[in-house]
Amino acid sequence: MEIKSATFVVSNSDPSKCPDTGLPEYAFIGRSNVGKSSLINMLTNNKSLAKTSVRPGKTQLINHFLINKQWYLVDLPGYGYARVSKTYRAEWQKMINKYLLQRETLMNTFVLIDSRLEPQRIDLEFISMLGRNGIPLSIVFTKVDKQNQSSTALNVNAFKKALSEEWEELPTMFITSSVSGTGRSKLLDYIDSINQHQNTKE
Ligand code: GDP
Repeated sequence: MEIKSATFVVSNSDPSKCPDTGLPEYAFIGRSNVGKSSLINMLTNNKSLAKTSVRPGKTQLINHFLINKQWYLVDLPGYGYARVSKTYRAEWQKMINKYLLQRETLMNTFVLIDSRLEPQRIDLEFISMLGRNGIPLSIVFTKVDKQNQSSTALNVNAFKKALSEEWEELPTMFITSSVSGTGRSKLLDYIDSINQHQNTKE
């Protein structure tokens, strides 16, 4: 898919106030610092669409970006900040759950995982929660330019193994780098194929 336009639409803390145009949307979420903003900017060919390295715990908002006037890319607030209050955590949980469970136009959630790390419990638990609730998801391994292919493969395989304990069929996975652009076309084509499928259903 070619990105012809990418524009910021709205930031919300209340999922019920998200755009009601009915366009399909794709959410991106992950641990703080996983590379989410960089990935969004890389995917949309825009250096500053998503704000990189915002202060931890500062922006607890759901951000909608309209892509090609056809679908929304949704930047969700991350989890796993080291120094945030219990109140922040509880509010995050409430907002995210409400969004994920009630957003009818949500086609897929991309869960970002730092390819340099061994499987982390917080990520596995989040993925498990999505699975339990029947929310479609894919895994996006980030920052693969930071290490050699075999190190990435080691962590990806360990992640697959950890998921296999709970999942019969593994979710779709993408290997990405915001620096080199690795994985960009595969991920965008994946979104495109879901959009096409939506169109033929209507
Ligand atoms: P966010 O908190 O998940 O939005 O993460 P950011 O996009 O702000 O990235 C966190 C840090 O990782 C920043 O210093 C980025 O420059 C760096 N980073 C993000 N993605 C990549 C990548 O693909 N390759 C490399 N080398 N660095 C990255």
